Amino acid sequence: MNIAVVGTGYVGLVTGVGLSAIGHHVTCIDIDEEKVNKMKQGISPIFEPGLEDLMKENILADRLHFTTNYADTFLNLDIVYIAVGTPENEDGTANLTFIDKVVDQIAYYTKKEIIVVTKSTVPVGTNHYIKDKLTKQNPNVAFEVVSNPEFLREGSAVYDVFHGSRIVIGSDSEAAAEVMHQVNEPFGIPIFKTDTCSAEMIKYASNAFLATKISFINEIANVCEKVNADIEEVALGMGLDNRIGSQFLKAGIGYGGSCFPKDTKALKQIADEVDYEFGLLNAVIEFNNKQRKKLLNQALLDFDSLAGKNIGILGLAFKPDTDDIREAASLEIIPELVKMGANVKAYDPVAMDNAKKVLPAEVTYVDSPTLALADTDLVFILTEWADIRDLPLSTFENQMRNSNVYDGRNCFSQKDIQQSNLQSYYSIGRAAKR
Ligand code: NAD
Repeated sequence: MNIAVVGTGYVGLVTGVGLSAIGHHVTCIDIDEEKVNKMKQGISPIFEPGLEDLMKENILADRLHFTTNYADTFLNLDIVYIAVGTPENEDGTANLTFIDKVVDQIAYYTKKEIIVVTKSTVPVGTNHYIKDKLTKQNPNVAFEVVSNPEFLREGSAVYDVFHGSRIVIGSDSEAAAEVMHQVNEPFGIPIFKTDTCSAEMIKYASNAFLATKISFINEIANVCEKVNADIEEVALGMGLDNRIGSQFLKAGIGYGGSCFPKDTKALKQIADEVDYEFGLLNAVIEFNNKQRKKLLNQALLDFDSLAGKNIGILGLAFKPDTDDIREAASLEIIPELVKMGANVKAYDPVAMDNAKKVLPAEVTYVDSPTLALADTDLVFILTEWADIRDLPLSTFENQMRNSNVYDGRNCFSQKDIQQSNLQSYYSIGRAAKR
């Protein structure tokens, strides 16, 4: 199959590399020339474990190409994937500007029948809208449009492409669905075929469900703190029940990233538009906003003021194993600390370049967790990277001026904390050390 993937972000690039790895001939298109030049040389513009090696392998095998040129790519194409961003508008609805642009380009450049596959997360009804738009703009071509939502997790995206739980194919055309079945079969992952609108909803419903599960355990954690229970023990005990499952029961300072916050808000809007008040989802969104401020609020309770304090930040990415900082806790907490007059020093193994572009200029960046701790009065742990989790508590004791640790990711065991000489340690859903 000759396949093009439009948009080479976390989803598009991993999709393009994955499809080439199972034998398809893939051209990835992006409008960002600098990014495309890097990728042509086998350099991944994003940090994703295993991605660069697989990219290089398939470039060498002549199955994977990168370009900014739509015209040449569309000369001989069977399938085009849309994988551009669908960020949120101010009112929480999904912004389809990038999708619209790509659809215009597909309509303009396509000369023969083609299957258009939407990987981007789009509101229910968007694939029908795309088909109408393509057909109106280019009535000479037979377009089929398929919804194929993506479920990969940043940080394990390459693994997920080959070991995902399911591939969802939503189409109103049996023929197009069958072609997509053949395209995806070599991945060896269960394929679930359904209608277009249901496929679109599966994506939102899945993310909203996971966001709800995270919020639920976080609420339980908040109660645990008040009743002398330990959330880590509670989550372990709950997770042993197969009906509940042990995943997504990790208490912390709320969900972030490029998907959960925006997709929950978009689903709320989808429901609002049909006059359905999605009370449970509204509560999840509201609660998460509160939980994200929990660590900072606790520090403000413990100290009269954070002005002039030396504060270390461990972890900037929204979760470990990614350089993605979209909707990360760090973006919420650090600007507040700077505004309060704190001296902020931050460390992240891979996300510092991205953070520098958006965080206040006053932040200092250092190359190791130990340097981030040196001479500080407080530290906030915001991402549970392995090199942060593995830090001996003695490093906190020895490096910090005052060893007050605010751990938003429960990186350390209560036993080790109780035996330590830390001045104070606050984590989520467990007894604090004072
Ligand atoms: P991203 O912002 O990382 O990447 C989007 C890419 O599209 C950028 O490289 C941009 O330059 C390119 N682009 C924009 N307009 C273009 C055009 N007209 N032609 C060619 N390229 C263009 O986005 P992402 O995180 O990969 O997300 C893409 C979609 O997948 C979104 O709808 C998102 O909700 C969904 N999704 C994301 C994840 C995730 O973990 N990131 C997981 C599942 C689904």
